[in-house]
Amino acid sequence: MHPEQSAHPEQTFAFCGKVVVFIVSILTLLPNIRRVNFTSDLLKDMAALEDFQARFDSEVACANYLFAQKWPHGFICSRCSHTQSTRINTRRLPLYQCNHCHYQVSPIVGTIMESSSTDLRKWFTAMFLVSATESGINALKLSHLIQVTYKTAWLMLRKIRQSITQADDAAKLTGNVYIDNAKFGRPYTGFHYEADEYPVLVGVATDNRDQLDYIKMQIVPESQYDEFHVLSEGIESFCEKHIELDSIVTVTERKRMKRKDMKGYPIFKIARAWLKRTYHGLGQGHLQHYWNEFCWRFNTKLQNNPLFESMLRLCVTTSTTTYAKLLKKGELLA
Ligand SMILES: [Zn+2]
Repeated sequence: MHPEQSAHPEQTFAFCGKVVVFIVSILTLLPNIRRVNFTSDLLKDMAALEDFQARFDSEVACANYLFAQKWPHGFICSRCSHTQSTRINTRRLPLYQCNHCHYQVSPIVGTIMESSSTDLRKWFTAMFLVSATESGINALKLSHLIQVTYKTAWLMLRKIRQSITQADDAAKLTGNVYIDNAKFGRPYTGFHYEADEYPVLVGVATDNRDQLDYIKMQIVPESQYDEFHVLSEGIESFCEKHIELDSIVTVTERKRMKRKDMKGYPIFKIARAWLKRTYHGLGQGHLQHYWNEFCWRFNTKLQNNPLFESMLRLCVTTSTTTYAKLLKKGELLA
């Protein structure tokens, strides 16, 4: 079985009325799309779906959105800073030609969609499914839904997760920060780490009413833990990367504290269940992106920011990568 493949990919779920509406709606959104079955938790926010369909009913609508994001105060030439342009509509996507130096630029330049020949509606649908659904989506389901190859779907999701990871790296925990030690892998067998499990540090920042403010989850590199403990280097490395200098940091010890009393552990359990449900058998090399995806969705909701809008903004402001570059970094299709 493929690592991201569902254990029961053809399982038919009991459709409620809303499920049927969702599938019909998605089917009308993209031409030649194949019917696929969804878990019901994909389908909770019908208003968001209807809004998405109304806004992005054509590739031109998607391109116009990208233009507005790229140049919120009107066109500015990246070569000469001239502000007047002529729109050229002879290609699949509009080009904007500077009226002074004649430099031509597409609105997908500088985004994760740069150099991609995939229809922008498919890209936007992928972003919608990653952001607006509780379960997220794996490459197999996405490839069926938007009718692209598995490799294309995998690369699209990888690029979307790259934009999430960049955003996660840029944001730091601040104020009162609690670090809990959790582990992922085999079922709980004791306090030591088995060969196929690894520790995850869960960082939680709270506000002045001691309410959750922001979370982060970080896999601990192998060199930073021994059979029983995350080493001090592991904690220091987490603090350095994820926590503002003037924060008050409390590190909980698994042996000395009940898990239910830990700030981050209950959230870790939700993340672990989500990861096991949606993505199966992922190698450690990819997993950090999935922890980041969970944290991004959790934090975005915590801050009452719209998920899909936030996702679009991230993807529009993140440079693209290529499959060849990912392979060079040792990332294989998974
Ligand atoms: Zn110019």
